Amino acid sequence: MQTIVRVLQGLDTIGGNIVAFEREDSRVVMDFGTTFGPTNDDTQSLLTERKLPNIPEFFLSEVKGHFTHNAIFISHLHIDHMGALQYLADTVDVYMSPEAIQLYLTLQSLNSEPATKANLKPIFPEKPVQVGELTVTAYLSDHDITGAYMFRIQDGFHEFVHSGDVRYDGPHSERVDYWTKILHDNQPDLFFIEGTEFSFENKSQHRETEASLLLDFEKVLQQTNELVVINPYQRNIERLFSLQMIARKMGRELVWNHEFATILKNQTAKHVHEIAVDVSWSEIEQEPNKYVVQNSFNDLNDLNKMNNFVYLHMNGEPLGDYDGRYAILENYLTVRNIPLQLMGASGHATETDLLKIAAAVNAKLTVPWHSFKPELENRALQKLGLKTNLPHLDEPMIFED
Ligand SMILES: [Zn+2]
Repeated sequence: MQTIVRVLQGLDTIGGNIVAFEREDSRVVMDFGTTFGPTNDDTQSLLTERKLPNIPEFFLSEVKGHFTHNAIFISHLHIDHMGALQYLADTVDVYMSPEAIQLYLTLQSLNSEPATKANLKPIFPEKPVQVGELTVTAYLSDHDITGAYMFRIQDGFHEFVHSGDVRYDGPHSERVDYWTKILHDNQPDLFFIEGTEFSFENKSQHRETEASLLLDFEKVLQQTNELVVINPYQRNIERLFSLQMIARKMGRELVWNHEFATILKNQTAKHVHEIAVDVSWSEIEQEPNKYVVQNSFNDLNDLNKMNNFVYLHMNGEPLGDYDGRYAILENYLTVRNIPLQLMGASGHATETDLLKIAAAVNAKLTVPWHSFKPELENRALQKLGLKTNLPHLDEPMIFED
């Protein structure tokens, strides 16, 4: 018997990475993301253009597949890892962490994520899930989103690993230490490792981490009596609560918009302050030094009420100048003479850390992906003495028993 591994999407993109593991009548698909923005194209044309992975039976009801056991596993809830779930034509079992399910359901209720036919099932850390002939085990990892996993896939003869997105200088590096040690002891046959940071040539010398970002935030609160406005990403729950904690420590309340407040309440059942519900704009105008306001791009004009404020951009949308809205944000602040202060931190390991992880795992075969330049990571991995492969799209990698 054999297991076939097939990369179905995302060999040289950041995200949109999809890989299938097939054995007999069983198939698991790892991650299900997209790299394209909102579109009116129908599912058939997205399939034809290969913007969706070549698994037509998932997207077109009339197509019958030949796998009896099928499941999709989502490493984390970034769009480049789950954006294709909205296109499922029929129910498919889709596993993700319980935190990710909770977040996904909240986002759907807020219309921030479209509805899906996915049959959402929780997978818990180190509690293996059986899909026919294949076993999948999840491990907690460290990425800039709640409930991020690394996945191990076993067929009784081989072991395959999908790193998911990972960083090594975040608040949970011990999780990465833990799973690299387990993988090292089992020497996997195949290790898919992300390579985001190998995409960019001109990296800045200074690297912010979640920890340094929080220190910088605290420093800003110390130095100003003005209102502080932050624009973070709503799916990085841990950072949101850390920011709130620091604001409170510094005598300020963090006030969230409806979307963020709902997400935070649903995720933890803790009380948070919502703008216009718990705190009004006139209260903020009267005592700006008592508040931090979270502001999403769509609410930018709410800030018209304030003559002055400090604006901290913390990985919220628009993420960068490739997004047309970034220029609008820059202009909005410029005409008010307010600097756009960048205070973000990456969810992706540095090149050095990626190589450290790959060397520690020491798989029989390492496959770099999730990068604009996988060939750069490939060369660096080879220099470490690791055996690597840069597969082609849909090409079967065959593992005989
Ligand atoms: Zn990603």
